[in-house]
Amino acid sequence: MELREAVCQKLERVNELNYTPEETIISSGCKQVLFNAMAATLNPGDEVILPTPYWISYPNMVGINRGTAVFVKTSQDNLFKMTPQALDDAITDRTKWVLINNPGNPSGAVYSQQELEALAVVLRKYPHVWILSDDIYEHMVFDGIKFYTFPQIAPDMKDRTLVVNGVSKGYSMTGWRVGYGAGPKELIKTMFKIQSQSTSGANTMSQWAAITALNGDQGFIQKYNETLVKRRNLVVSMMNKIDGLTCRAPEGAFYCYISCEGIIGKKTPKGHVISSDLDFCTFLMEECGVAVVHGEAFGLSPYFRISYATNIERLEVACGKITTACALLD
Ligand code: PLP
Repeated sequence: MELREAVCQKLERVNELNYTPEETIISSGCKQVLFNAMAATLNPGDEVILPTPYWISYPNMVGINRGTAVFVKTSQDNLFKMTPQALDDAITDRTKWVLINNPGNPSGAVYSQQELEALAVVLRKYPHVWILSDDIYEHMVFDGIKFYTFPQIAPDMKDRTLVVNGVSKGYSMTGWRVGYGAGPKELIKTMFKIQSQSTSGANTMSQWAAITALNGDQGFIQKYNETLVKRRNLVVSMMNKIDGLTCRAPEGAFYCYISCEGIIGKKTPKGHVISSDLDFCTFLMEECGVAVVHGEAFGLSPYFRISYATNIERLEVACGKITTACALLD
């Protein structure tokens, strides 16, 4: 209860949202909140709209719960944000959820107030569609941009919105496994029934630690973001110098989603033709020992993701190795 109260206070203080503790759930990571939500609501064949590139767990969570993932393509030109038209086109009578991951993994996309308002205009036409706002990267927003969560923009849709968040990213407490959700009481109650018969919930020590995280001094967030921006700028500038790669500076999270379209068709020194982003990532792994994730895993090719949640020296070495490896391609 103490953590649920801390979550309510945080949502009011930071996001201007009013929830009661009964409208919140604490789980073993944001991941379990998301899974509970899918398990609590999906009937076979119900559709969940997922903008691509998506976080890899989403389609699997939908599939395990017998739902159908419906993918909405985004583009690098639009910094990987779903447009209102694309959302409208994807909605059917079977749509149960649309998932907005803001800031996004792997894209780093951050929706502005206007962009969320435009999505809300579409969603107002479809009262049967619920909105899931995955805000786990909320605190990692750069370049003076302000973060908004969906129900802040569309309070009239709060009764069909689930906000999910946690302490894994902003507080670097991934291993502590604490996430939370806030939404309508009936939904939360059903999610809790599922959780109480699976894991019971997050462990008590971690819950106390999460209270300290949420209630404590938040000053480090700004400092941490300054470090993240330096790392982002390094990765973006080094990647854009490589012939065949293009990357626009992401506005949030700690990932760069880089197009490798210009590499496709090139030949490695061993004579292999790179025909996909997976081929390219395998080449980088084998040639220079740098691990990046291919775009196909996130549903949008030909791209790859670099995580810059590591120190700048290591990033400089890794990007240097990628530069050297790419120079070998013909
Ligand atoms: N949502 C997104 C978009 C993520 O990238 C992640 C972790 O990578 C999670 C949720 C899961 O967070 P947690 O560690 O709180 O389960």
